[in-house]
Amino acid sequence: MNTILTDGVIHVTGKCKACDHCTSICPTGAISGLLGEQHHINAAKCLNCGQCLVNCPFGVIEEISMVNDIKAALNDPNKFVVVQTAPAVRVALGEEFGKEPGYNAKGKMFAALRKLGFDKVYDTEFTADLTICEEGTELIHRVFKAVGQAGFEESGPLPQFTSCCPAWIKYAEDNYPKILPHLSSAKSPQQMFGAIAKTYVPEKLGIDPAKIYSVSVMPCTAKKYESQRPEFVASGYQDVDAVITTRELAQMIKDAGINFDQLPEEKADEFVGASTGAATIFGVTGGVMEAALRTAYEVLSGQSLGNVNIEPVRGLKSVRDATIEVPIQALGGQKLPVKVAIVHGTKNAAPLIEDVLAGRSKYHFIEVMNCPGGCINGGGQPIRRDTH
Ligand code: SF4
Ligand code: SF4
Ligand code: SF4
Repeated sequence: MNTILTDGVIHVTGKCKACDHCTSICPTGAISGLLGEQHHINAAKCLNCGQCLVNCPFGVIEEISMVNDIKAALNDPNKFVVVQTAPAVRVALGEEFGKEPGYNAKGKMFAALRKLGFDKVYDTEFTADLTICEEGTELIHRVFKAVGQAGFEESGPLPQFTSCCPAWIKYAEDNYPKILPHLSSAKSPQQMFGAIAKTYVPEKLGIDPAKIYSVSVMPCTAKKYESQRPEFVASGYQDVDAVITTRELAQMIKDAGINFDQLPEEKADEFVGASTGAATIFGVTGGVMEAALRTAYEVLSGQSLGNVNIEPVRGLKSVRDATIEVPIQALGGQKLPVKVAIVHGTKNAAPLIEDVLAGRSKYHFIEVMNCPGGCINGGGQPIRRDTH
């Protein structure tokens, strides 16, 4: 029986020192308690982002763990346990073993996962490509609808918002339900991988899908909540059975007595062909936008965006924007200035959402990521207590 997240993912333990720092971090006011009082999290308002957890100076905020569920599946001879690993995990995992931030632990991470007993070890990059293709294609359809191209009348409205951050999606659902038609309908890479793990993978390997147990390693605590959303069961099975964070994987490796430094560099198991590598920029804010925009540009213009500089979409400012002139092939090369915005910190999205709802937004495409700088600084990443 798997852990069920009935009361959210993040909890303040009874060891709270009542310093009140976390209330200034929370984007939704989900944490209650005054200075000097035990603090509590209201699960209904919480986005499960884990930013309070990584910023609590006393380390007394905890996430719900699914590690025991995974260990039970690994020890069950009737289960075939597959694992996916997100791009932001490999550049942070090494920190838990004394490496410098940014050390690429990809090869050792795959070796460690095999030592832990996972039957197949996959990279989420391929399904990140699928998310980019879906979001890019959807944007193209919405742009065609907006310029009056026949056959695209059923497409959604502009601007399109990205949909791969579960904390942002919950924020939109809880606070701005009228904005939901503007969100891309594409599943996140985690959920796309999960769907494939319960359909394509068992078919390819000749295994009963009921035996597949699908795990993901994420930089993100909100991905635990996402994995249990009731809509992600289209195959008849839950797409992702359990999620662990970068921190929890490091702890599993330590608990198993694996010497991380001595591990060989190994590769991920082959999935369904090569990925483009576009997903490696997924972990930083602006990455999803840039990858989807390159796809949309190629289709709309018939040309590559190769030499066009869209660097303004990267960086750490909480709201950034850029305009890309796209020659629309279907309109005889007529140029359309496509305006994009990148937001990190869900609270910072509120003015842009209000502009959209009031009909005064100038944008075509808006990326929203909850965590500062994107998933690389997600709530599941190693905690640097020395910075507090
Ligand atoms: S930051 Fe940590 S110790 Fe301080 S009030 Fe919040 S939970 Fe308690
Ligand atoms: S997990 Fe995020 S939304 Fe929930 S209480 Fe902590 S900071 Fe607030
Ligand atoms: S920005 Fe990334 S790590 Fe943070 S909540 Fe969203 S998906 Fe998770």
